[in-house]
Amino acid sequence: MADTLARFNSIEQRIAEAVGDAGRPAGSVTLVAVTKTFDASAIKPLIAAGHRVFGENRVQEAQGKWPMLKQVHPDITLRLIGPLQSNKAADAVALFDVIETVDREKIARALSKQMALQNRTVRLYVQVNTGQEPQKAGVSPADCIDFVQFCTAELGLSIEGLMSVPPIDDNPGPHFALLRKLAEKAGVDRLSMGMSSDFETAIGFGATSVRVGSAIFGTR
Ligand SMILES: *Cc1c(COP(=O)(O)O)cnc(C)c1O
Repeated sequence: MADTLARFNSIEQRIAEAVGDAGRPAGSVTLVAVTKTFDASAIKPLIAAGHRVFGENRVQEAQGKWPMLKQVHPDITLRLIGPLQSNKAADAVALFDVIETVDREKIARALSKQMALQNRTVRLYVQVNTGQEPQKAGVSPADCIDFVQFCTAELGLSIEGLMSVPPIDDNPGPHFALLRKLAEKAGVDRLSMGMSSDFETAIGFGATSVRVGSAIFGTR
């Protein structure tokens, strides 16, 4: 527990330094603490310390721990950072405040419908497969602008930004640069990029949120 908090504080400090090094305003990068595989007892010290933004990659796993935590702390922001199936869209809209993995028409339509049915607005990001990896979710860079346009114009969705997970063995810098360029072209201004191993690089390329798990909670 004490270790988790110490690691969290050190990540916050490294983020602040990277933001300063990049000549960006203090507080311009949000730390999303990624809690997948960790249960409520591991998460509570961070909440007690005042942290409020968390990420999970599976709807079902998140349903097992977050409804209770959010009931006690309604100001928590929960972000879905893993692939979403359309049969889970209702549950995802009910539980998450941000969904970062919109990447196909079917999901965009399902989310649009659920937000209307539940009278609830969830902030949305389009996931981009910058490395064009066959096994990885996300729209291809070539389709990104059209897809954002489709979500906005056809479905009336508000797309807040773009998200990506670069290939594990690549130098991440060019992927972050590509995501930033696509966001500029698509007319969205938030960038969710950077994880435990590369969040400082991502901040240099303009990340507005970084998703950090193992560097805070330990290995999974
Ligand atoms: C697990 C996960 C993270 C956090 O990864 P770490 O390397 O543990 O920081 C970030 N983004 C996504 C999409 C993830 O699934």
